[in-house]
Amino acid sequence: MNDQITRLEQAREYLQKYYGYPDFREGQRKIVESILTGGDTLGIMPTGGGKSICYQIPALIFSGLTLVISPLISLMKDQVDGLLTMGISAAYINSTLSGKEVNERIRAAKRGELKLLYVAPERLELDWFREEMNSLEISCVAVDEAHCVSQWGHDFRTSYLAVYPFVNGLPKRPIVAAFTATATPEVMDDMISLLRLNKPSVFVTGLGRDNLAMSVLRGENKREYVLKYAMEHSHQPGIVYAATRKEVDDLYERLRDSGIPAGRYHAGLSDREREQSQEAFLYDDIRVMVATNAFGMGIDKSNVRYVIHFNMPKNMEAYVQEAGRAGRDGEPSECILLFSPQDIMTQKFLIEQNPQDQDRKRNEYRKLQQMIEYCYSTQCLRWAMLDYFGEAHDHKPCGTCSSCTDERELVDMTRDAQIVFSCIHRMRERFGVSLVSSVLKGSKNKKVLQYNFDHLPTYGMMRERTEKEISELINTFIAEGYLALSEGQYPIVRLQTLAGDVLKGQHQVMMRAPEPSHSSGVESSYSRRRRSAYDESPSAVNETVFEQLRLIRRELAEKEH
Ligand code: ADP
Ligand code: MG
Ligand code: ZN
Repeated sequence: MNDQITRLEQAREYLQKYYGYPDFREGQRKIVESILTGGDTLGIMPTGGGKSICYQIPALIFSGLTLVISPLISLMKDQVDGLLTMGISAAYINSTLSGKEVNERIRAAKRGELKLLYVAPERLELDWFREEMNSLEISCVAVDEAHCVSQWGHDFRTSYLAVYPFVNGLPKRPIVAAFTATATPEVMDDMISLLRLNKPSVFVTGLGRDNLAMSVLRGENKREYVLKYAMEHSHQPGIVYAATRKEVDDLYERLRDSGIPAGRYHAGLSDREREQSQEAFLYDDIRVMVATNAFGMGIDKSNVRYVIHFNMPKNMEAYVQEAGRAGRDGEPSECILLFSPQDIMTQKFLIEQNPQDQDRKRNEYRKLQQMIEYCYSTQCLRWAMLDYFGEAHDHKPCGTCSSCTDERELVDMTRDAQIVFSCIHRMRERFGVSLVSSVLKGSKNKKVLQYNFDHLPTYGMMRERTEKEISELINTFIAEGYLALSEGQYPIVRLQTLAGDVLKGQHQVMMRAPEPSHSSGVESSYSRRRRSAYDESPSAVNETVFEQLRLIRRELAEKEH
């Protein structure tokens, strides 16, 4: 026990001496403590939370070597350079080195001169490498970005499966410490079982960084919004994520044309171009980086003031990871998601394009659905996020997210809810949002007539609204938990217990109206922003969807990996 205390003191001393930080962050101390006690550890922390230190500091205290499994070559180099500058003996071995350089590093490790050695997981599959490692004292194997071991995650990488056989083949089993920012139950289960963590201590911390103001904006003119925002924040670093390369190129050019120092990053550019714009961003030669999701893993830029999502990402994990690149220094920063319903179609299309088994597909649809619910959520977005990741929170609204700052009044929507729910009930809970909307609108489309839905009592009961408005309303009821969607490409809307209570008149539905209330006479800028959702004409929307799908199909065809 005493020994434990002194080791922790030692850890803090090293933190001050090498890194110059006064103390561990919330969460780091517990993880370091757990690793120092010799137990397998799973540390889940948001991007920028400070995972590296959690294994680097114990590495300094352990007598042998800490082998770090890291997915990206560029990331390894940055980390090792950083460590060397601080005076910590570290090295990496990867394909950019000559055979001679590799041998030198292995010899240094054998002489006990290295505290940390970084390798990519693929290396663990090489016989000669395993043999070399067998003759070393390895005290700890740190698995960075450990969610890559799971097929449920968003960056599955087969070679992560080589970690367990590698560890198992070592003469003495080291401590295994795994780190990620992904905290969903499936991925957690996978990390524990596929890495065969031995009774691990699991730590989940700080997903809801309170310096981040989260917003979801629906119905914006996205291009104008991005240009205006970047212009108003032209002195601050920011990232704009878009779904396609074409969109990235387009935004990039528009920003440039407006005189904003912008860079771009996507898989269609040469390695050199990508490297250049990454550097330019890191060193503040450009302000805003327009990129696909290919950009960002392992980027250590602490002063990113905003992350704008031009399109809705495929799931909450991806969103949190990307949005979490804002405000790593703890200063107030903004994460803005520009949502439009066509993003849903894009993501569904991507799921369908990707050859995979039914189980995984269903899982992806489920996650997409949760992402959509987040976008329609009217509760505090910080809660919604913490709830999703199963993190405890104090039920205090954050006060900064777009739900918390929504100025629209809460209105009694019970009657609308009753109409919608009874319509769904009469349609026997067998159809999706769009057909329910058509029936409520009173359209005479083929499907409505085919099922005789024009004879239902609820037929046309929302005639005064557009089908799009009705769908938005239904989506809001879904996000609020009154309704649920089945899984799959064509999800069916079903009533939940709460909807039954509403139908029986036992529950009042108080919501922010999907349309701005005109009662006050003065329209807030926020409601104006929301209302523009209805300005886009449906045919224009369809055209862009079509165009977007065509592009994605082409990009997928030429996707290099
Ligand atoms: P992650 O891997 O979780 O995304 P990093 O390990 O790259 O995060 O750390 C993110 C940033 O936080 C780095 O700039 C790091 O130096 C800084 N940092 C980590 N721990 C502390 C600490 N205890 N005090 C101050 N800054 C810290
Ligand atoms: Mg990291
Ligand atoms: Zn909030």
